[in-house]
Amino acid sequence: MDKRSQNFLYKLLETPSPTGFEQEIQKVVRAHMKDVADTMETDLHGNLIVGLNPKAKRRVMLAGHCDQIGLMVKHIDKDGFLWSSALGGIDVGVLIGAQVTVHTKKGPINGIVGRKPIHLQNGEERSKMSLDLENVWIDIGSKNQKESEKRVEIGDPVTFKLGVLELGNQMICAPGLDDKAGLYIAMEALRLCAKAKLAVGVYAVSTVQEEVGLRGARTAAFSVDPEVGIAIDVTHSSDNPGAGSGKSTPCKLGKGPTIARGPNFNPVVGEMLVAAAKKAKIPYQPATAAGPLGNDANAIQVSRGGVAASAIGIPNRYMHTQVEVCSLDDLDNSAKLLAAFIKSIKPTTDFRP
Ligand SMILES: [Zn+2]
Repeated sequence: MDKRSQNFLYKLLETPSPTGFEQEIQKVVRAHMKDVADTMETDLHGNLIVGLNPKAKRRVMLAGHCDQIGLMVKHIDKDGFLWSSALGGIDVGVLIGAQVTVHTKKGPINGIVGRKPIHLQNGEERSKMSLDLENVWIDIGSKNQKESEKRVEIGDPVTFKLGVLELGNQMICAPGLDDKAGLYIAMEALRLCAKAKLAVGVYAVSTVQEEVGLRGARTAAFSVDPEVGIAIDVTHSSDNPGAGSGKSTPCKLGKGPTIARGPNFNPVVGEMLVAAAKKAKIPYQPATAAGPLGNDANAIQVSRGGVAASAIGIPNRYMHTQVEVCSLDDLDNSAKLLAAFIKSIKPTTDFRP
């Protein structure tokens, strides 16, 4: 990964974007893409739509969701502790003991999620951890309610403390790789197409609110009205003790993006993705999804009169925790694959299955 791209990726990972509070990250994407974009539009929902070759009648949409899971402050108690609701699928088990950031209008505030010390837990508490947000509080080091209320407002969003940790073998660890990795790939793929002669217009969309029901992709797909729509999102790898029963499709970090088959995948797009990967010698991993996906590809496929939908999976460990892991090589290869696919579309290509 070249330095410029890596800086963009790290900047995305260090910028908070809890679901419904994505404005900051859209500014980062806008600033990075303005040198290659032919058009750039933020819609009323908050999606950022970056366009290339807008005169073309046929359109391809790439969707990477910019929102990340988080919390929202719902109550400040008399001792100054914060109580919260979930923004998306928070794993309360990993929240306990975590460092968090409360994003206030006046700036970020450090917090931690406390827990009763092991010495004070009775037998039942030790064996049965109650994984419920009702039992989890955020401590920002306030003396009392009044002091907390001066610093934090009801409705302020919270994320895990953000930052990138570099591991071995090109692996990085960061909260929100789901799906800033996909967002990064969508934008890089458009960049790789910038100088090519294309038969289609390309619209890379930084979609909002995926984590609460694929909502940004739904509105963006309606306005872009694409013929082909591809979501780029993380997928569970099977290469660690927490995943993979030995009976599921193998998926390893560093072995390339996944290209799946199943009802959410247009077969023509699928075959062209595989052909593009083989031709450009880009590694990929076959995958399966027997039902509609839980990501933007689901909403895109059934937009308007139907879209030739597909998805690229980025192998990911420990999804929805603060230690999500992806491989930088997989990110690079995913962007290359999408660019190769887009360049392979001819005026005569018929996507009807
Ligand atoms: Zn996602």
